[in-house]
Amino acid sequence: MLLVSYLFRSPSMPLHSMAGPVPCTTSPTSHHNEVVEQLSQLADESKALVENSLDIIALVDEFGNILRINSAAQEVLGYAPSDLMGMKYSALLHPNDRETVAEVDAGLRVGADIVRELETRWIRADGETIFLSLSVRWSEQKRVMYVTARDITEKIKVQQELQKSKDQLNVMLESVGDAFFAVDYQWTVTYANRKAAALVNTMPEEAIGRNLLEVAPSLQHSPALANYQRAMSTGKPEFFEVFWEPTSSWFDARAYPSEDGLSVYFYDITPWREAEKALRKNEQRFKGLFDQAGDAIIITDVHTKIVDANRRACEGLGYSHEELLQLSTVDIDADFRSYNDVVSTLQTDQTQLIRGLKRRKDGSTFSAEVQISRFEEDENVFFQAIVRDVTEREEAQRRSQESEQRLRDIIEMTPASYVLSDGTGQITDVNPALCTASGYARDELIGRHLAQLFAFCPWHGVAFERNGPVSAHGMEVVIKNKAGDDIHVLFNGSIKRDAEGYAQSLTGFMTDITARKQVEQRLEKLATRDTLTDLPNRAFLDERLQQLLEVSPPGASVAVLFIDLDRFKEVNDSLGHNAGDVLIREVSCRLRNVLRPSDIVARLGGDEFVVVAHCSQGRASAASIGQKLLGTLSKPLDIGGQEIFASASIGISMFPQDGNTKELLFQTADIAMYQAKGAGGSACRFFEPQMSVVAKKKMSLELSMRGAIERKEFEVYFQPRVHLASMSVVGMEALLRWNHPELGLVSPAEFIPVAEERGHINELGRWVLQEACAYTSSMREKFAYPLCVSVNVSARQLRSSEFVDQVADVLERSGLPPSLLELEITESSLIEDIEGSATVLRELKNLGLKLAVDDFGTGYSSLAYLRRFPIDVLKLDRSFVMQSQDGMTSFDFIKAFVDMAHALKLSVVAEGIETSDALDFLRSAACNEVQGYFIARPMPLAAFTEYLSSLEGAGCVRKN
Ligand code: C2E
Ligand code: MG
Ligand code: MG
Repeated sequence: MLLVSYLFRSPSMPLHSMAGPVPCTTSPTSHHNEVVEQLSQLADESKALVENSLDIIALVDEFGNILRINSAAQEVLGYAPSDLMGMKYSALLHPNDRETVAEVDAGLRVGADIVRELETRWIRADGETIFLSLSVRWSEQKRVMYVTARDITEKIKVQQELQKSKDQLNVMLESVGDAFFAVDYQWTVTYANRKAAALVNTMPEEAIGRNLLEVAPSLQHSPALANYQRAMSTGKPEFFEVFWEPTSSWFDARAYPSEDGLSVYFYDITPWREAEKALRKNEQRFKGLFDQAGDAIIITDVHTKIVDANRRACEGLGYSHEELLQLSTVDIDADFRSYNDVVSTLQTDQTQLIRGLKRRKDGSTFSAEVQISRFEEDENVFFQAIVRDVTEREEAQRRSQESEQRLRDIIEMTPASYVLSDGTGQITDVNPALCTASGYARDELIGRHLAQLFAFCPWHGVAFERNGPVSAHGMEVVIKNKAGDDIHVLFNGSIKRDAEGYAQSLTGFMTDITARKQVEQRLEKLATRDTLTDLPNRAFLDERLQQLLEVSPPGASVAVLFIDLDRFKEVNDSLGHNAGDVLIREVSCRLRNVLRPSDIVARLGGDEFVVVAHCSQGRASAASIGQKLLGTLSKPLDIGGQEIFASASIGISMFPQDGNTKELLFQTADIAMYQAKGAGGSACRFFEPQMSVVAKKKMSLELSMRGAIERKEFEVYFQPRVHLASMSVVGMEALLRWNHPELGLVSPAEFIPVAEERGHINELGRWVLQEACAYTSSMREKFAYPLCVSVNVSARQLRSSEFVDQVADVLERSGLPPSLLELEITESSLIEDIEGSATVLRELKNLGLKLAVDDFGTGYSSLAYLRRFPIDVLKLDRSFVMQSQDGMTSFDFIKAFVDMAHALKLSVVAEGIETSDALDFLRSAACNEVQGYFIARPMPLAAFTEYLSSLEGAGCVRKN
């Protein structure tokens, strides 16, 4: 300001004006002496004046030649006046001004007789350019020019300097950021830079020279005007901030009074103002936050004296704001601490967290977590402490720690095994129970994967999948312990998953169920194993075969072999149960030994076994397996010192050709086995589709048997029995027939087993008995000759508790004398239950009837053992008799046999006599009776009656 005002101050330039015209010197003439003298005096004076003048005074003729020039020429132009006399003045002129001066010169001659203060440039003797202010008068009369020239070089230089500095100032004022204007005391604008002009929307050129209020009418309403007026009137600068409406800007204004008036500077501070406003807003916000913060906030100075605290801090500590500001942090710290560490740490660190005990105004204390940070404001260091009361949190932590500890104690002490894994199955925690159970140390288990611990787990592979299971209760899992043993455990577990279903952790508790599992296994073994042979039983077979079929790849071939020992019952009964058991065990060992471990050998019960084997070569493999089995069984067995030859009938069914379900395979193998059995045993048969025709027939028989008696489909045929010696008919055997509506006449060999199986045998047997007895009884009246009737009794009937009563009842009803009834019991049904049979037979015998052993010679029974039963008749099976026909030794054998029977008081009947040779043979052997097609075929009742009638005529005797 000072500088500027200085620059504008006009320099005071002493300017001396010439007062009046320069007197001219004229040549003296012959005048009055006094006058002359006066004139001379005047001329001298003038001459002195001229000579003393600092200005050049010269006389120039009409041609521009210098006629006279004063001594100032020496000083100003550097030439002696004498040197200049006669010179043309133009020679001294600056070339640039010659033209101008020539024009002025010419102008003088044509009327403008005088020129004043013409600024011209001249060349000094030393070559320097000087400025001369010329005043010239032309005298037309004398035709001379009177010239005065004043040296104004200094003045011009000062002027030029001034202009230069003015220009510089302008440039400066335009380029500074400030707006600037200056006014004089009359409020006329003497200067304004562009910025200032722009504020009133004008240009500096237009503003300068006009009244300030005229240029800026808005000033009328601005407080700035008062400031200007005050500065002007007091002569003291005014500094103020003002809002300038027209541009909506804030200015920092400074008005400096000067000699010339007032200089005003503005600086646009709008951005600062805005920033300040924002800052203030922030500060207010911060203040709000500060006060409303959930935590107590305390601000201290570097000496830990409290300088501010928020509402929470006041509430928490129980002090008023004012009270707190009187305190230092030491006053609120219950546990004294040195702040040096904290302070030094804060020099480098942003924040520091410390814990401590704080004291309230009332003396009570609380645990706090204090976050301290350091900040600087106006070069002062402060600390801000966020104090959080952690009493509740610590209490909660303590409680959670306690409950965690309790949980830990439980986990440690529980007999249940505990495992914790991360979301990948990596074990992170275990309890001692699991260590004990698994045999691993804790360290060995941690880090191990669950899959390495669990030998079997239903969760395997799925537990840690995304969106896998979340919990399991009572899941059976097997742990492989360190020793490699399986430990069965009951697993209760849960898997924690995140929102996206990814496993986070797995917690599992396991209780050892190995003992239970072992019991279960034993039970299962009992359920799935045959106790006698330890082979799998039917249940196991069912399950395994099912599994096997399910997993069999296409094209695979599996054979199911049904094995039934031939005549096992006889062994069992003749040698005793223990021997039978030994035989079964031995057989099972042999079967097992010739088969591969992967093959299944099961015992269905009794003398029935099943083998299931993979057959890579199909039927060829199965056939060789069958032969292998037959081979191993054909080797003699040593049972209690006795050599026994076992044999078996084997039926083979192939999967999938013969059946694609286990039921079908069992059925077809069973059918094939019966075929083998039917072929005489010790044979192996593959199932053939036509076999199932037989099986189907059996099924159809089963289905149609119910109600067949009521439908009168059964019929009793009779076959005569002839006394060999007399050849007279002594009786007949009742043989049952079934007139099946679809199948025609069905053999008892086919339907009796079905009736036995389906439980119809008692009813059927009773019916036959009734028919036979009733008929025989009626024949007694018809023929004088007493005929005895033989009725076949099945093993089942014999076992029936009602059987004896049933027989007694039938006898009574029919009125047939018991002595005329003979019951035929097969050898095999007798030996099924020797004791039981003996009892029943004795009871029957007590009824007064006769008992016969049917089919003798087909089993293992010996005569000696038949002595236990109250038997009257021995019926030799057809096969027995036929066998014996082979040679003389056979005859001897039969003869000896019949003799022995006779010795035991048994009557011997030979069955199936088809030829006279056989008849003769048996007669020779002293057999008592015969029966066979050679005598007569079995015939229906009417035919038989007729047959008897025809015989009666012939005296009941038929002789050959
Ligand atoms: P079985 O008691 O040994 O009866 C003798 C069988 O030999 C009868 O067969 C008979 O027809 C047959 N037969 C008689 N003479 C000859 C002969 O010269 N040559 C040949 N090849 N066979 C001859 P059938 O009637 O088919 O009876 C078969 C078996 O059915 C009987 O054998 C018997 O065990 C049983 N059976 C028959 N009827 C009954 C019955 O009412 N109840 C019971 N439980 N079983 C019966
Ligand atoms: Mg019979
Ligand atoms: Mg027989």
